[in-house]
Amino acid sequence: MEQEDRTIFHVDVNSAFLSWSALKRLEEEPGSVDLRTIPSAVGGDVKTRHGVITAKSIPAKKYGVQTGEPVVKALQKCPQLVLVPSDFETYRKYSHALMEILAKYTPLLQQMSIDEAFLDLTDRIRPQDREGALVLARQIRDTVREQLGFTVNVGISTNKLLAKMASDFQKPDRTHTLYPEEVPAKMWPLPIGDLYGCGKQTAQKLLLVGINTIGDAASADLALLQTVLGEKSGLHIHNSANGISRSKVTPEREQAKSVSNERTLSVDIDRDNYQTEGLPVIHRLSEKVAARLQKAGLVGQTVTFQVKSADFDRYSRQTTLSNMTDRAEEIEATALYLAGQLLNGPDGLFEKGISIRLIGVGVSRLTEKQMQQLDLFAWAEQNEEEEKKRQAAKARQAKLNAMMEQINGRFGSGTVKKGE
Ligand SMILES: [Mg+2]
Repeated sequence: MEQEDRTIFHVDVNSAFLSWSALKRLEEEPGSVDLRTIPSAVGGDVKTRHGVITAKSIPAKKYGVQTGEPVVKALQKCPQLVLVPSDFETYRKYSHALMEILAKYTPLLQQMSIDEAFLDLTDRIRPQDREGALVLARQIRDTVREQLGFTVNVGISTNKLLAKMASDFQKPDRTHTLYPEEVPAKMWPLPIGDLYGCGKQTAQKLLLVGINTIGDAASADLALLQTVLGEKSGLHIHNSANGISRSKVTPEREQAKSVSNERTLSVDIDRDNYQTEGLPVIHRLSEKVAARLQKAGLVGQTVTFQVKSADFDRYSRQTTLSNMTDRAEEIEATALYLAGQLLNGPDGLFEKGISIRLIGVGVSRLTEKQMQQLDLFAWAEQNEEEEKKRQAAKARQAKLNAMMEQINGRFGSGTVKKGE
């Protein structure tokens, strides 16, 4: 089946978290050093130097500092590395501003993670108009740099897969094309693990059968790939390695703005019965909201606690978490904190003698969980988890060794005793 050619751009922010942290710092302390120009990195706990690197500057990259590696290791490679903490609030702000600019070029915009998006520009630029595509890519890069102060790479091709691969070529502030006819020269020499959609485990399986480059996979027997990876994955890798992808740019569906639940109480609540009547309701509402978020595949960042007084006035308090959540316990804990302020605080409703008859719990600032998982934060956390598991396994092994030694020792002395 022949692919229908489209004009697809993949726009990807260069060292997104690092660039955005650098901009924030320049905004707060004008004249301070631009983090992008020195060896610097975002990640972990800056004071305790735990955790992993989630982004690094280009000068830091020259020292071999890698995204996903423990902070301690990065500091060994580059002792003068300047570390800054993650700042999700700022990242969301810049991400939003970027998507607003990109949306002006086409409604066919698909945000893939916090710092990257696909644009289907076929209506503006015919796939044959390669010069036109380059001009438009330059325009997008210039607009982002001038209006927002950070740089992006633009990858251009006739499908999403190749556009994505292209944007990953040399950085920063570059446009690259990877048209189907350029695949043998530009994509086939790359290591198989660089193929978009080829995870670590898949790459490892392929390396075992001698498939080292994307070109090796492209020319490999489909049956071999399917034996090693399974029918579906084998076909997918074979197609991808040959630059074939039929995935469409799908604009985000109109999302729910918030998920909330409320409940009218059987009795009015005041300070005296808050513990017995109020707390169980907050618990159940939090569970309901979490279940609805999970079912819709959404996570949210702002939690709202709301009440209606016995004389029908509405009051609410809300707070924004540093992370996204769909967890009942986290929503409940936050709602309880807000309830404490709104009801029981020194200026609280109970203090003023106001009783309540309705309670509501809600979560807003929603994002699709899929997208959340794609972003680097989640990825880095996952790496951190794996690192923890490795450390735990090491510790277990060491303990086991020590025990074995002890047992051997005891067994030895026991034998001696027996002879006594
Ligand atoms: Mg990026």
